[in-house]
Amino acid sequence: MSEHGLVMLAWSDYVGVTRCRAVPRSQFQGRLETGLGWAAAGQALTPFADIAPNPWGPMSEVRQTPVPATHTVVDIWPDSPALELVLCDSLNADGSYWECCTRNFLRSALDDLRGETGLELLSAFEHEFLITGDLPAAPPFSVEALRNVARLADDIALALEVSGLTPETVEPEYGVRQYEVTVAPSRGLAGGDNAVLAREVIRECARRLGLRASFSPKPFLDGVGNGAHVHFSFLDAEGRNATVDPTHPSGASAVARAFIAGVVRHMPAMCALVSPSPASYYRLGPHHWSCGYAAFGIQNREASIRICPSTSTDPTARERGFNLELRPPDASANPYMVLGALVRAGLAGIRDGLELPVACDVDPAELSEAERQRMGIRELPGSLPEAIDLLLKDAEVRSWMSPTMLESYLGVKYLEHELTVGEDAADTLTRYRAAY
Ligand code: GLU
Ligand code: MG
Repeated sequence: MSEHGLVMLAWSDYVGVTRCRAVPRSQFQGRLETGLGWAAAGQALTPFADIAPNPWGPMSEVRQTPVPATHTVVDIWPDSPALELVLCDSLNADGSYWECCTRNFLRSALDDLRGETGLELLSAFEHEFLITGDLPAAPPFSVEALRNVARLADDIALALEVSGLTPETVEPEYGVRQYEVTVAPSRGLAGGDNAVLAREVIRECARRLGLRASFSPKPFLDGVGNGAHVHFSFLDAEGRNATVDPTHPSGASAVARAFIAGVVRHMPAMCALVSPSPASYYRLGPHHWSCGYAAFGIQNREASIRICPSTSTDPTARERGFNLELRPPDASANPYMVLGALVRAGLAGIRDGLELPVACDVDPAELSEAERQRMGIRELPGSLPEAIDLLLKDAEVRSWMSPTMLESYLGVKYLEHELTVGEDAADTLTRYRAAY
């Protein structure tokens, strides 16, 4: 690799956009310690060219400080510069974590999980995206749909491998020109880091071929939505899967059962963090496997949280493969905030010793309102303002953020909503398609 070129110092902000400043490679070492200054007010950016009212003004700065373990170089394109970036923590001048650092939002949730249960989170996002550009339509899940993007699919697999992300599948999805990429799960903070990196790597692979990958929750009104489902499990101190208990009818361990219950209890309020844009509410809803209810299920793809038993016949592999899936998230959410909220909701369930909810084995939308009530299944919010209202009413969810973080985060979300008031749905979705 040449000495020339730029290294991006990058971070994912409240709206899940990966922002960056870049330095010449020759100066990168020097930046490892000091990082780069960034106006705190930048955290109030919407995905568009608007900044929400915020508590920081023109003076406050944070230091975007590289996390060396996340340094990623993808140098697979002979005719264009390598993609090189390192993810950052946002620090105060005294070296402490900025209270609005989204990576630290996850770190502190993971610390509490470890402190209270001794467990580590293992997680992986499923990345669904739409390819736009000069590309013919093909039937869902077809060989033709994949071979139409053969170069891109190969580049994605190679680029992810070079990045150390271990791609597991690259496949055509249900939607026209929609694809999905999954990577192996990672421990702790790396689960969030790798979600940010995977998206940037996929975007770059498309860009190099004159195509564009859009992870927008709903690229087109009449098209299929893009989810960013999270698969996760817990590791105990011996590295065993602490999520599984083959002796329980659900297959889930006591800690996983209480965790699930916590997530179900806080799911409607968590939507403001995990499905957090106006576009998210064109995706969320029943009958599309993107889920419309805070239900729990085993296998059920219409549930917000589901148990995914392993299909392996080998008992060891079966235990290792057992995992849970959170389905409402989409890529307009910050991955660290998604995982942090997930952990915090689950921990609340563990603290309160909650019982596993009744498993729903149909599309909850098919149940009568009375049946849903009996099973404790609540509807997810239908719009961003509804989601924010639910968040504000849920003291537990509110408590996950410092007052400054809550105020500034909601400031951005209110502005995003205001920008879309009175706008045609198609125009809103066009904006989000371009931004994500
Ligand atoms: N595209 C669906 C969503 O919006 C998910 C489909 C699937 O289960 O893979 O979440
Ligand atoms: Mg999918």
